[in-house]
Amino acid sequence: MNKNNSSQISLQEKYDYLKTEFKQVLKGKIVKSSEFFDEEINDIIERKDSKENIFFLKRLIDSVGDAVIATDKDGRIIYWNRSAEKLYKWKAEKVIGKNIVDVTPTKTSKKQADELIKTLINGDTWQGEFEVQDKNGRIFPIHVTDSPVLDENNELAGVIGVSKDISEYKELVNELLMKEIRFRELIYTINSGIVIYEVKNEGLTGEDYIIVEFNQYALQHERKNKDEVIGKSLKDIRPNIDDFGLIDVFRKVWKTGQAEFIPAKQYVDKNFSNYYENRVFKLPGGEIVAVYDDVTVQKKVELELRTSEKRFRTITEDSPDAIFITDLNGHFRYINNSAYTMLGYAQSKLKGKNFIEIIPPEKHEMMQGLFQKALNNEHIFTETELVKKNGNVIPVDLNAMKLPNDKIYGSCRDITERKKAEKKIIQQNKEYESINEELLQMNNELKTAKNKAEESDRLKSAFLTNMSHEIRTPMNGIMGFTELLKNPGIKGPQQKKFIDIIQKSGARMLDTINNLISISKIESGETEINYSQVNIKEIMQDNVLFFKPEAEKKGIQLKLNSQPEGILIIKTDRDKLQSVLTNLTKNAIKYSKKGTIKTGCYLNNNSIRFFVQDEGIGIPKDRQKAIFKRFVQADIEDRKAFEGSGLGLAICKSYVDMLGGEIWLKSEVNAGSTFIFTVPFQV
Ligand code: ADP
Repeated sequence: MNKNNSSQISLQEKYDYLKTEFKQVLKGKIVKSSEFFDEEINDIIERKDSKENIFFLKRLIDSVGDAVIATDKDGRIIYWNRSAEKLYKWKAEKVIGKNIVDVTPTKTSKKQADELIKTLINGDTWQGEFEVQDKNGRIFPIHVTDSPVLDENNELAGVIGVSKDISEYKELVNELLMKEIRFRELIYTINSGIVIYEVKNEGLTGEDYIIVEFNQYALQHERKNKDEVIGKSLKDIRPNIDDFGLIDVFRKVWKTGQAEFIPAKQYVDKNFSNYYENRVFKLPGGEIVAVYDDVTVQKKVELELRTSEKRFRTITEDSPDAIFITDLNGHFRYINNSAYTMLGYAQSKLKGKNFIEIIPPEKHEMMQGLFQKALNNEHIFTETELVKKNGNVIPVDLNAMKLPNDKIYGSCRDITERKKAEKKIIQQNKEYESINEELLQMNNELKTAKNKAEESDRLKSAFLTNMSHEIRTPMNGIMGFTELLKNPGIKGPQQKKFIDIIQKSGARMLDTINNLISISKIESGETEINYSQVNIKEIMQDNVLFFKPEAEKKGIQLKLNSQPEGILIIKTDRDKLQSVLTNLTKNAIKYSKKGTIKTGCYLNNNSIRFFVQDEGIGIPKDRQKAIFKRFVQADIEDRKAFEGSGLGLAICKSYVDMLGGEIWLKSEVNAGSTFIFTVPFQV
């Protein structure tokens, strides 16, 4: 074998060779030439000089980088090369003859030691690792190849051990191991699915992808144990993976070595309907790695958003309302079709304009104010107007608000028709109001008429009751006493008394009939005023004079209390004035049991004020107005005690009215009454 060849021989092969040679040396044989050594060396060997030969071999073994130690069957060291000296720090001369166990104490387990000895006795080579201690006490790991040396009886004669320090290698391995552990930890705990595939048919088509690694996230996502996935094809786990297109990408990555990203895509089978994002790359060892994320939720949200955005757009476009979106300065950014139609502009003619340009000038200030409010996140609802391209103005309901994306949204509803309807309603309302007023008026009139009818009905009953009483009572008197007078036995004072009663009854009836005539004349408007020059003082005096006897008969004083100075003549109706005075004086006497009745008159501004004051029974407050009505009496219960038709005060009031004056009273029950009336002072 030439030089070049020998340099290509592996170290192991050299050891194996040396092992054979050494066996020969131990047996005292001359070692034969070997094809592993170069020709020069061969020459030396060829010279068959065994000393030289041995020396050569020693040198050769010394030159080996690994420690080579030979022991006899008892473990006594018979050879210790240079590298052994270097490794174990013992010089050869110090260890030759000593037991290997004492020189290089080792840390082997019993099991390992037994296995070693068994292997060597069997004539086999043992390889293994254990820790050993050098001369300086350093303990370090070594890799050992122990080969047995057998004698002619195939008995173990000795051992050749080749050992080398593997502490650096161990450190390296540990470091790599740590890196691997960290890397695995990362893969396992990461929140994405990581799957490593071995490519089946690598070098051909990259056809199938067999799972060799499946991280925790992926296991959870697939709802599988590691055993169920490792060694399986991707197709076993995801039957529809071809439709998803991942295999194609794997092939591409496998072929080009370039990493690929597959954006969110849907995978569907009977178990899954999810969206995944995949990153695929190739490891230096040829495996394919897929890192994937389930983005179903994001994708669905995105789809929903897109759908709702589309829906919104459709609604906006199709909305009959004009919809505008402006920026924060009020410049149009979006205008829907209805807006163009409503305002009469051609498409896109409003884009970029400011909203204020479609507002009538008189509303600018208000609308700018509202725009500011919308900017401050206030929701605006208002009625306003928009100006069409042709200058016409449309009334609209405006609804505006700020959008989250710093835009202002406004929708305008044309309310022309509503406004018209409102106007119509207002007009109609007015009409109804006036009809209502008319109806109310009619109602009032009807009420008055009804009241009047009721009143006249009541008056009619009152009249009938009063009249039957007021006529029957004196009539009974007249009839009764005239019957008595027929008796010839009735004479003298008794006869006079009966005639008096008949006269009084006649007078009372005459009074009633007079009153009736007066009131019916008043009612029918037949009463006339006959003006003449009337001496007031004379009338007053006559009145007192006339009633004095009647009053005194009841023990009441009747006085003319006060009168203006001098002669007082005015232009008035004498009979009516007299009638009023008579009535009031008669009542004063009638409704008094004692005390004084004062009468009088005095000038007050442009009228003469007459009064008749008594200290009689008085009139309750709630009856003071009613007594001026026909047939009404103050106290219905007591009426019989006083006799009367209830017509006197009604006649008085009518007469005073006719004369152009007023009549009223002041009265307190049981204290007395004062009737006052005026007549104009005219001459
Ligand atoms: P009558 O014929 O019943 O007196 P009048 O019209 O004169 O009718 O009076 C109406 C009623 O007013 C009387 O029935 C009586 O109740 C009350 N009245 C009138 N004058 C007086 C008075 N001076 N004092 C108390 N009550 C009076």
